Amino acid sequence: MNDSRIRDVVIVGGGTAGWMAAAALSATMGEQLRIRLVESEQIGTVGVGEATIPAIRLFNGLVGIDENEFIRATQGSFKLGIEFIDWGRVGESYMHVFGQLGQSLDLIEFWQYWLRGREEGVSEPIGHYSFNEEAARNLRFARVPRIPNTHLDGISYAFHFDAGLYAKFLRGLAEKNGATRTEGMITGVSRNPENGHIRSITLDSGEEIEGELFIDCSGFRGLLIEQELETGYVDWTHWLLCDRAIAVPTENVGPPRPYTQSIAHPAGWQWRIPLQHRTGNGHVFSTEYMSEDEATALLLKTVEGKPLADPRTIPFKTGMRRKAWNANVIALGLSSGFIEPLESTSIHLIQNGIAKLISHFPDREFRQANVDAYNRRIEYDYERIRDFIILHYHANQRDEAFWTRCREMDVPDTLRDKIDLFRATGRIFREQEELFVEVGWFQVLNGQNIVPETYHPLADALTKEELAGFLRDIRTIVANNAARLPTHAEFIAATCAAQAPGVPA
Ligand SMILES: Cc1cc2nc3c(=O)[nH]c(=O)nc-3n(C[C@H](O)[C@H](O)[C@H](O)COP(=O)(O)OP(=O)(O)OC[C@H]3O[C@@H](n4cnc5c(N)ncnc54)[C@H](O)[C@@H]3O)c2cc1C
Repeated sequence: MNDSRIRDVVIVGGGTAGWMAAAALSATMGEQLRIRLVESEQIGTVGVGEATIPAIRLFNGLVGIDENEFIRATQGSFKLGIEFIDWGRVGESYMHVFGQLGQSLDLIEFWQYWLRGREEGVSEPIGHYSFNEEAARNLRFARVPRIPNTHLDGISYAFHFDAGLYAKFLRGLAEKNGATRTEGMITGVSRNPENGHIRSITLDSGEEIEGELFIDCSGFRGLLIEQELETGYVDWTHWLLCDRAIAVPTENVGPPRPYTQSIAHPAGWQWRIPLQHRTGNGHVFSTEYMSEDEATALLLKTVEGKPLADPRTIPFKTGMRRKAWNANVIALGLSSGFIEPLESTSIHLIQNGIAKLISHFPDREFRQANVDAYNRRIEYDYERIRDFIILHYHANQRDEAFWTRCREMDVPDTLRDKIDLFRATGRIFREQEELFVEVGWFQVLNGQNIVPETYHPLADALTKEELAGFLRDIRTIVANNAARLPTHAEFIAATCAAQAPGVPA
């Protein structure tokens, strides 16, 4: 038995990152670890982060979450994708939905046939071939793993939830598995003089908490990773110009949409996230191109329901920590970096950091090769997501100064190569372990009007009649099966309706 095994883990911060880490580590390594989480109610949490991607269901499986119970507890709803309004040109909209698009045939992606069909005049809008999009546009949802009697995948989904209720829900799971919570403000940090590692943190009560591994989930301030260890930050604000968000919850108007909306504005964009008890809204913008007052006024003018609270400002700086793991501190969540909430990837990056922490779990030697390997993988994940987000800004045809600058800026070479390849050939290759799959890239490239010069020659293997029939069959299957689904509201009511706020359970 290795006697340098780590026993004491201290998690600094109790937002989404802190409680996800506590829930996952206590569920998987709880027998070997003493897990203590420290948080300060006085400081509070960032209070946003309410839309997710389907990979979160793996996390739920890992920590043993019952999905209906989780949705009920977090006033949650289901998410089939994102509708992007006015992103390419004002007046246009497209969806980036999860799951399959049509059906691949003869080794090539479905959209190669669709591109040919478009030239031949037999293709309908691309969303008509997606089960997720057809369900989303008709406000329908059900858990359907496969379209019956076909080779087509069923519904692929993620969630929207109330961020505060999510942390509370995870806290319940983590505490059940033995993690403990201490309330208090961290006011001091002590280091081991020999290697510079963090030895303990001190609270305003005077209590000192020692640890061997520290997980910094303290949010943007990066209490240990930055304020103490001065790790440094890689700044991406020259590519991702937005630096502030205004958030405001509103009353629901109409039944909940089973998707997020993202509406482009003159200097940024606005989110709408439907929950059972309210809608989350926010306007992400660049202060170089719009004042905070203007941004707030625009948000309040474009929300659908009555505001339930005063608008709140959240400044941020896009980029990532130079090293997510430094000495005996691993940063998770906003302390490790922040790209942009546009494709709901932050919570995924927390989950990803936790999964990789478990696979690279250190001992007290903190072997540098292991630390370096972890950091390389995290950096790769961040950079690939960064490219995908930049694409949304870059591929636009709008004429405001903000959008013109985004269109004309130099983008990372990795992104430039992807765009060039798609424009020339209609092809997209997913790099190893990259989060967004080819069909996700296709929906955004196509949705924002990047038109390939040609399509794959194999798409010519069908006659025009065969091609039209192939496209028509998929369209019919998708439309008929989507029409049979219950509405999203009916599905929630039947399976996972939450208590109305204020009503005792
Ligand atoms: C505008 C915006 C929109 C977003 N939308 C999405 C989205 O739709 N989807 C998504 O996946 N992500 C989104 N995110 C990101 C998401 O909000 C975060 O990834 C997630 O909430 C995790 O935050 P956190 O736990 O790292 O930080 P926080 O929530 O800020 O938590 C920090 C914790 O540290 C504690 N703390 C700090 N300092 C001290 C101290 N001195 N002593 C004791 N405790 C301390 C605080 O009390 C708190 O508990 C969004 C972010 C922003 C800014």
